[in-house]
Amino acid sequence: MIAVEIIKTVKEMQKHSDRSRLSGKTIVLVPTMGFFHEGHLSLMRKGRKIGDDLVVSIFVNPAQFAPGEDFESYPRAFERDIGLAAKEGADVIFVPDEKELYPDGFQTYINLEELPKHLCGISRPVFFRGVATVVSKLFNIVKPDIAIFGQKDYQQVVVIRRMVKDMNFDIEIVDVPTFREPDGLAMSSRNSYLTDKERDYARSLFKSLKTAQTLLKDRTNDASKIIGAASRIIESCPETVIDYISIFDPETLVDMKTIDRPAQMALAVKIGKTRLIDNMRLRS
Ligand code: AMP
Repeated sequence: MIAVEIIKTVKEMQKHSDRSRLSGKTIVLVPTMGFFHEGHLSLMRKGRKIGDDLVVSIFVNPAQFAPGEDFESYPRAFERDIGLAAKEGADVIFVPDEKELYPDGFQTYINLEELPKHLCGISRPVFFRGVATVVSKLFNIVKPDIAIFGQKDYQQVVVIRRMVKDMNFDIEIVDVPTFREPDGLAMSSRNSYLTDKERDYARSLFKSLKTAQTLLKDRTNDASKIIGAASRIIESCPETVIDYISIFDPETLVDMKTIDRPAQMALAVKIGKTRLIDNMRLRS
């Protein structure tokens, strides 16, 4: 039997963290919405290496879903998740209760001024407010020394780093490369929504990013040309609708016209009913 403690209340979690800190342990937090895949597990592996007390939180955060998005249908597999996290050596699984995190009368949110005006923030206007709010709450509850996030959600990492700086959280943010399927598709809990056909079309996201990198290496540094080529790859698959494809400054997220320095490329595509995202650093 692998021992992992399951904590469900804020008080209990804070107590655990106070004890841990007092005994000189480094607390690492991996915040998740559960339904684990290898991407999540790679974050836990990193956490196990760099910390003494590995806390994995599982919480499908209602504040980051807009009405009509997939909050209700978001995949959940709690028992399986516990086994997987235990196997990776998690010390604590924190599963807060929705009513405790957002009690009646809740009205305090973290809003970033500029970063959410780009990329996913355009089609998901409440998303980053929800993410920043719940992550700041988790930071206050778990009191980690280090928190780990995936580069798969690139804009999220940029938002969290900014929030940590702006709000003086004494927490180191570590990001981990995107874990991919053998054909390049970024692992995501939402991949489980895809039909076989859609799964096939989903390969076009990574293919378009790789093509962009190849074009840049071949000296095409006009962002609109690269985006055009990437769009054509995705549009050649039926049932795909591009939300955005952007090439932008890795820190400010502001669009770049000419790629004359390291740039980030990101895209969001709807395949059938499923919205997928991916991104890549572009280097000439
Ligand atoms: P989620 O449960 O989807 O909210 O993700 C929890 C954490 O896992 C976030 O920091 C994500 O960026 C990260 N993550 C999700 N998918 C991947 C992946 N394929 N590779 C690496 N990290 C990931």
